[in-house]
Amino acid sequence: MPFPGIIGQTAVKKRLGEALTGQPGHAYVFTGPRGIGRRSLAMLFAQGLLCEQPDEDGPCFNCTACHHFQNQVHPDFRRLSLEKKEKNIKVERVRHQISADMSMQPQFGNRKVYLIPVDDLNEQGQNALLKSLEEPPPYVCFLLTVEQLDRLLPTIRSRVVPLIMQRLNREEITAILREKQAGDPAAWPFYASFSGGIPGVAVDFAGSEWFGSLRQECLDLYDSLGQAGRARLLTSGFDFFERNREQTSLLLDLLGSLIRDQMVCLTGGADLTNSDQLDLLKRQPVYRLSSEQARVRLDRAYLAILSAQRGLTANASFELLVCQLLLTLRKELIHA
Ligand SMILES: [Zn+2]
Repeated sequence: MPFPGIIGQTAVKKRLGEALTGQPGHAYVFTGPRGIGRRSLAMLFAQGLLCEQPDEDGPCFNCTACHHFQNQVHPDFRRLSLEKKEKNIKVERVRHQISADMSMQPQFGNRKVYLIPVDDLNEQGQNALLKSLEEPPPYVCFLLTVEQLDRLLPTIRSRVVPLIMQRLNREEITAILREKQAGDPAAWPFYASFSGGIPGVAVDFAGSEWFGSLRQECLDLYDSLGQAGRARLLTSGFDFFERNREQTSLLLDLLGSLIRDQMVCLTGGADLTNSDQLDLLKRQPVYRLSSEQARVRLDRAYLAILSAQRGLTANASFELLVCQLLLTLRKELIHA
């Protein structure tokens, strides 16, 4: 799929197209959150750099170099990645697969391309990479990927051209979900919003059963806040958090999105994350309060979510954190 077939990232695609039809640099870094599409675009650019007749839309997909690349047998392309049980890519592998390899001329065309996920290198690994970046042979091009630019050693950062990947808008994410036929189309607007503009997150969540059932349980919990007595809420609500302890931050995000939507509903806005849950939002007692009263309560409920998120990162007591949250939500949202 050439550049125009990739949804979003207009600015980065334009720069890559210009590089392919002009004089490409020796080192680029694709930066952005996990799931944004750094590696896919870097792979496409790598293929374009090795292609015999690339244009501003990327590689031709027809030449021998493109065929080799797509069959993963192009001799002048190397991609470093974590091996089983590796926490970081070993320094020896950086030295062997890059530093030693790059001194050998390209076998096929007139370039060699190395794709390196810097998030998987520790400082030693980055230092080994720096040696290669300092004086590369003229035919070498490095493509790095990293979540945040400040993860790069300053000495590496000053030698690479940054390509900053942008979050996608809801229409673009929905188009990707449609393309992949990921999960239930009725929930696509939710995933398009909840993913925060990161297509990989939207596709993963929309296509996974565990996330679907986690969300459903979260909706049930939100719905039950008013009906369950205090003691029962603490038992069943706590049990839910306990069973999904590893996902607490995600649960808080889900609950937070409902409270934010509840605020939007109150002001008659239509920009909801949980637009498929309008009935649930409208049957909450807080929805029937005067808008001023409701606003104050929703603010406090939302602050409770933020405070739980902070407690989580500060390693506060899990039991205390969950119980306080449940009681605050019940008090503010439901129990007048
Ligand atoms: Zn080609």
